[in-house]
Amino acid sequence: MLSYKEALDVILDNTKTLGKEKVFLNQALDRVLAEDIVADRDNPPADNSGMDGFAVRYEDIVGASEENPVILTIEGESKAGGTPPKLQKGQAIPIYTGALIPEGADTVIQKELTKVENGKVYILKELKKGTNIRLQGEDYKKGDILIKSGKKIRPPEIGILASVNKPTVYVYQKPKVGIITTGDEILDIAEPITKQSQIRTSNTYSLYAQVLQTGAQPVIIGFAKDNPESIKENLEYAKNCDVLLTTGGVSVGEYDLVKDFVKEVLDVKIHFWKVSIKPGKPLVFGTWGKENEKLFFGIPGNPVASMVVFEIFVKPALKKMMGYQKLHNPTIDAILTEDFSRKSADRTEFIRLNVEYSDGQFYAKPFGKQASNILTGMVNANGLGIVDIDIYKIEKGSKIKVVMFDMDI
Ligand code: AMP
Ligand code: MG
Repeated sequence: MLSYKEALDVILDNTKTLGKEKVFLNQALDRVLAEDIVADRDNPPADNSGMDGFAVRYEDIVGASEENPVILTIEGESKAGGTPPKLQKGQAIPIYTGALIPEGADTVIQKELTKVENGKVYILKELKKGTNIRLQGEDYKKGDILIKSGKKIRPPEIGILASVNKPTVYVYQKPKVGIITTGDEILDIAEPITKQSQIRTSNTYSLYAQVLQTGAQPVIIGFAKDNPESIKENLEYAKNCDVLLTTGGVSVGEYDLVKDFVKEVLDVKIHFWKVSIKPGKPLVFGTWGKENEKLFFGIPGNPVASMVVFEIFVKPALKKMMGYQKLHNPTIDAILTEDFSRKSADRTEFIRLNVEYSDGQFYAKPFGKQASNILTGMVNANGLGIVDIDIYKIEKGSKIKVVMFDMDI
């Protein structure tokens, strides 16, 4: 059976990045940049003032102090967006933050270090030459690469795109991710429950939300019963997806038919079935499509397994399709607040933890029951603690590696 790392390598080695598309700037938030962004001019475009005050010549203010102020004649003005006059010897030009430095000036003295009387300004302190001047190109120069392709577009990137005059921008396409829910016992929302054995789906909608949160495009294809006709019919509708996720029906039970029929209907090439992880062991992974560019994940039905498998395997693959340079969630070292132990240690286990930061440390608290059928097991979790193969026990107070999947709780 493949290890967690081996399985991840197989998945990522078989995942190809999608093509590009052009979007308007206001639609670009949370998309992934598919072009390098190059500066169209220097920033700042010209020397300008960092303060409200007076533009002066350094030579004129040498030796100025409160006891011995230098007195200069006030001349003209330099305001943001304006064209200032030239500064002559013995003059000071009132200047405002962001306004151009007048020709002839080399220093700006802030208002607080001056006093104005009868059309004259008293300079109360000598400053170093160049003080309060923001130099042309000190932020970036024309032609500099400001943002590299493969970066997620956040508000700061939106700001840069606007400032370099990009009304549209190339981003990577979003994969269309079809979700097929399987199980004779599974009902969709709003279907009436008539038997005790029936279960309302959770996976359909948690997977939908996970796909959406990753930035891809989820599509609910349908609900298949555990018989060949129903499974085949649903698979037919999956043909124009980039990624197919099925939930349930991949264990070794007699009604676990998904693996066989994806081969028959979609010509899926299965790369592996089963990974030594807990939860999520029966995971199936395959590729399909003309150039094997499409992915198939047969996800086990247990609700926690479904969410964990998505986080650790499906999400990095979707990110690779979407052109991300960084595929994995951040991993931190945290201090476990309760003992953890297990009877068998032949799989890498992902335990649900709630991580909090306090006094310079991350603390990770295991939450409730850890079995994979415990629907509420993920509700209070914001990270998955990794327990490696052969580790039977992690004592309270010792460190554990945690893959964070949510920073908001
Ligand atoms: P399976 O992988 O089909 O053997 O299902 C494993 C367990 O997960 C069974 O107890 C199922 O009832 C449950 N299960 C399967 N699909 C879902 C679903 N969509 N929502 C909630 N539980 C499910
Ligand atoms: Mg089932």
